[in-house]
Amino acid sequence: MRATEPQRGLILLSPLAGWSTPLDEIPDPVFAGRMLGDGVALDPTGATLHAPCDGEIIALPESRHAVTLRSDSGAEILMHIGIDTVGLGGEGFQAHVQPGRRVAAGERLITFDLDLIARRAKSLLTPILVMEGCGFTVVRSIGNRELAVGDVLMEIAPSGEATVRGGTGEAGAHEASKGTAELRRVRVALEHGIHARPAAQIVSALKGLAGEVSLGVHGHTANARSTVALMKLGVHKGDEVEIRAAGRDAAGAVVAVAALLASTQVAGGGSAAATQRTAKPTSAQAPVANAAVEVRAGAALPGVVASRGLAVGQAVRLAVREIEVTRTGAGVAQETLQLDQARTDVRTRLQTALAAASGTASEIVEAHLELLDDPELTENALTLIAAGASAAYAWRQAIRGSIDALRALGDARMAERADDLLDLERQVLLSLSGHAGGAMQELPPDAILLAEELLPSQLVALDATRLAGIALAAGGATSHVAILAAAMGIPALVALGPAVRRIADGTPLLLDADGGLLNVDPGAERLAAARRQLELRAARRAAEREAAQQDCYMADGRRIEVFANVGSLAEAQAAARNGAEGCGLLRTEFLFLERETPPTEAEQHAEYQQLAEALGGKPLTVRTLDIGGDKPIPYLPLPVEENPALGLRGVRTSLWRPDLLRQQLRAILGVRPYGQCRILLPMITDVAEIRSVRVMVEEACRDIGRPEPIELGVMIETPASALLAESIAVEADFFSIGTNDLTQYTLAMDRGHSELAARLDALHPAVLRLIARTVEGAHAHRRMVAVCGGLASDPVAAPILIGLGVHELSAVPSIVPRLKALIRKLTLADCTEIARQALEQSSAEAVRALGLRLAARKSEPESV
Ligand code: PEP
Ligand code: MG
Repeated sequence: MRATEPQRGLILLSPLAGWSTPLDEIPDPVFAGRMLGDGVALDPTGATLHAPCDGEIIALPESRHAVTLRSDSGAEILMHIGIDTVGLGGEGFQAHVQPGRRVAAGERLITFDLDLIARRAKSLLTPILVMEGCGFTVVRSIGNRELAVGDVLMEIAPSGEATVRGGTGEAGAHEASKGTAELRRVRVALEHGIHARPAAQIVSALKGLAGEVSLGVHGHTANARSTVALMKLGVHKGDEVEIRAAGRDAAGAVVAVAALLASTQVAGGGSAAATQRTAKPTSAQAPVANAAVEVRAGAALPGVVASRGLAVGQAVRLAVREIEVTRTGAGVAQETLQLDQARTDVRTRLQTALAAASGTASEIVEAHLELLDDPELTENALTLIAAGASAAYAWRQAIRGSIDALRALGDARMAERADDLLDLERQVLLSLSGHAGGAMQELPPDAILLAEELLPSQLVALDATRLAGIALAAGGATSHVAILAAAMGIPALVALGPAVRRIADGTPLLLDADGGLLNVDPGAERLAAARRQLELRAARRAAEREAAQQDCYMADGRRIEVFANVGSLAEAQAAARNGAEGCGLLRTEFLFLERETPPTEAEQHAEYQQLAEALGGKPLTVRTLDIGGDKPIPYLPLPVEENPALGLRGVRTSLWRPDLLRQQLRAILGVRPYGQCRILLPMITDVAEIRSVRVMVEEACRDIGRPEPIELGVMIETPASALLAESIAVEADFFSIGTNDLTQYTLAMDRGHSELAARLDALHPAVLRLIARTVEGAHAHRRMVAVCGGLASDPVAAPILIGLGVHELSAVPSIVPRLKALIRKLTLADCTEIARQALEQSSAEAVRALGLRLAARKSEPESV
């Protein structure tokens, strides 16, 4: 096998058997951002790396995970096996050459343990790069195809931009005479010394700075602007390196390089373990080639539970349409128009999806709509188009820039937005390439979908009736797609690691998203047992749903009402279907969001009337507008607050804008029949607030000529209102406890804080004591107490809440049948006893353990 070297260019042959993939797919910003150079990534199916052309080995680190070769015409080719493989310290790699050795195209360079790397590295993707600055550029490359060793991979040609490379011990004297000279010694803190990625970052950091910069160590000097020269230095963690700079920007250059050397990690890097959960998509979706080393039958892959449940089915790999993006555009006007059209197309699709979506799905679509019209994103894309980029390239770069900025904030919630941005990038690029809205992927029945990552738009494009489960190599349990899967009732495991890509299509799978295991081809017996279990669960759910239409009484005859929380007409319909005995909380904010002006009184009235009818005459508890804090409304600018959660929100905002409240009260009071609605006030802290609203309610009744009074209740969401429950009960007709906010304000933990999420448990004894105090205050004046916060949807909590004296639970619609079935098995004595014990515990975990024991006794295995 010989590589041909035509007049000007050079053909590089595939050094590996594998699937060729664009560099953008590499889950590492240094490679994906082409900081080291341009080229192609290979997803290997073979385990031997060969020379892509004739040349000389010029760099081979001790870790043997990468090798650089210089062709006879001077092109420098870096081959980097896997991502984050330097950390393996050479384990799994065997080199067959050494630096200085001449090799012929096709000659064996390194063999490696594919399985070991698949298990331990962040990704198997192997970049084959023409090094930045070596004077060659990629003319053509073969992408998205399965290649054998020796197949043509790419053609490169001299760019005429070669920079001076190699050691520079003598360089700098000339520059030094033009400016200042700087010297600094730094001990290297980088975990794996100066390997490919830190080298690339040093070169990149120096790009805007003039002058000569070199690094010296162990008696050798290297040009700090050459990645290869830096890698050849063989710098390890702990080595003392001398940075020398001369010329105009000498001082800045020394500071920039010193900062990089003194950091412990390469930016965007991190350990394989730490990044595995959030790795960006790789070529895992490329079919067939990945299945070369299959996962053995009987293997159980551990993952993170994203949506609970059990699924039995067959492996189906997500089909992903690769999108080619050319860098250069066909003119500013044309590219601007195309981007505009693609965004309009995506906007229309999203608006259609929004009209059909409810709950979580609609929130996600709303987030995408908001990002699509983000002015900064559009502005950045248009700037790139003005500089000559194509619409697709500009959009992708603008999105990636925003993602980098979000990730740099180091805030997990911000990183979730990055997933939304990636989704939007894909939707717009598909539209630009004319593939948007193409045929949906055909799924066989009981499909268990395998993918590296899944975007919300990809999930909703699948036929949910055939989708039994989801198994992702990467992804996080709190990502939007995880929330969506849970809302759709599809069991899902994430962060299963790269082994997922080696499960062949059609393999029988048992996805246990209660225990966190993906069982690969577990054998007929286990599959049959799991199917039986699924049938039992389905039969039980069906029975629960049927019984849910009956009123709910405990085993000893005591009446407990099970209501539902509602935020849209679709949810009201779901509530009625699931047997809710009414709506305990209508979040009216949904009427005010995604608009430019508030809804008129007539619009509001029509919506409330429709909801009342959807509930078939059952009670409808309408909460007045609860905005501010975590629920801002753009057309209602609130004063800038340092701590919005403690500022103008809930009833405070309504009293600050009484015009809006009056309108809303009139709209609610007009709903027929008069007795169906009751009013609920959010975030009450004292009786004065209730008195003010009651006066306004009476005025509104007079305004519309309503003769009948209406019940006016309050939400107990602050420790203040819980502690003042007895005096508040004199003024309020009923209580509804908002455990989400009550927990946030009692534990002083932000309810949206992902790091604190596991500790934000409303079963905390401090919260339970406030609930007990609330009930006491209410009972003193014969007031009814409901719970409408998230705790009411938790079967483990239900007996405790009933034992504390709560009369009504208002839960998410889908859980109503289950709650009713559980409550029917309980007696008041069971509940009083567990509530008594719960109040004596000192932690939420201890309370939860009590609840779980009772649930197990009452044979509620799914809640255990
Ligand atoms: C609560 O705080 O528990 C509640 C039900 O209100 P929201 O979640 O809408 O703030
Ligand atoms: Mg609340």
